[in-house]
Amino acid sequence: MKGEDKGWLVVAGLGPGSDALVTPEVTAALADATDVVGYIPYVARVAPRDGLTLHPSDNRVEMDRAQHALDMAAAGRRVVVVSSGDPGVFAMASAIFEALEAMPQYLPLDIRILPGITAMLAAAARAGAPLGHDFCAINLSDNLKPFATVEKRVALAAQGDFAMAFYNPRSASRPHQFARVLEVLREHCEPTRLITFARAVSTPDEALKTVTLAEAVPEMADMRTVVLVGNSATRRIGRHVYTPRSAL
Ligand code: SAH
Repeated sequence: MKGEDKGWLVVAGLGPGSDALVTPEVTAALADATDVVGYIPYVARVAPRDGLTLHPSDNRVEMDRAQHALDMAAAGRRVVVVSSGDPGVFAMASAIFEALEAMPQYLPLDIRILPGITAMLAAAARAGAPLGHDFCAINLSDNLKPFATVEKRVALAAQGDFAMAFYNPRSASRPHQFARVLEVLREHCEPTRLITFARAVSTPDEALKTVTLAEAVPEMADMRTVVLVGNSATRRIGRHVYTPRSAL
């Protein structure tokens, strides 16, 4: 069938929100695409134009979305699947490979992942350099793993004195879980530990607030917030927060 070999699938990160933080290679892929697939608010960030079909979908249908994107690329379309931030961080890139495992006939397809600026790095840059030493990223949502796993990972990361970035920290459907995560932190960290709540970074709604663990309350986080927990050496310097590059 003609045209089949011309199709491709790009999984692209749109960065944290600002157009200035979209990479030139992502902009070029979008300019060359025939179809854009993704969660409604992310597809809304792509400017409509002639020859481009937008396929916004609900957040809960990741595997359907991945399969749809693979089907279209196999049919010769040039498809960009969009995620916010980086597509490999709690986002669509893994979903595409999971779908590919179930559809091995698509293995020869031209599939590329284009990185983006993930929320924790945009937030850290705004705050100063709180992730300047060893750190880890933990998704606090229990949609795809048991909450006991979240608690265990937070406790072990705290014991290892890692700085931490929490994604999906608190939603209306599970308000008590972030309160529990703060409790776990209090079991392992001193009350003066610095925590930055970074909301809607690089958008007009951006708001950053750094408090101590003793001052932190669950209501400081929502689903547009990434939470950065310092390590035991993280400190303030003027308006900034930073973690030294050396450890004891
Ligand atoms: N792939 C995305 C993360 C998707 S999970 C990335 O790499 O950034 C969605 C979570 O990301 C949100 O609940 C929030 O914790 C975080 N997030 C995404 N954009 C953000 C922004 N502009 N400011 C703060 N946090 C953000």
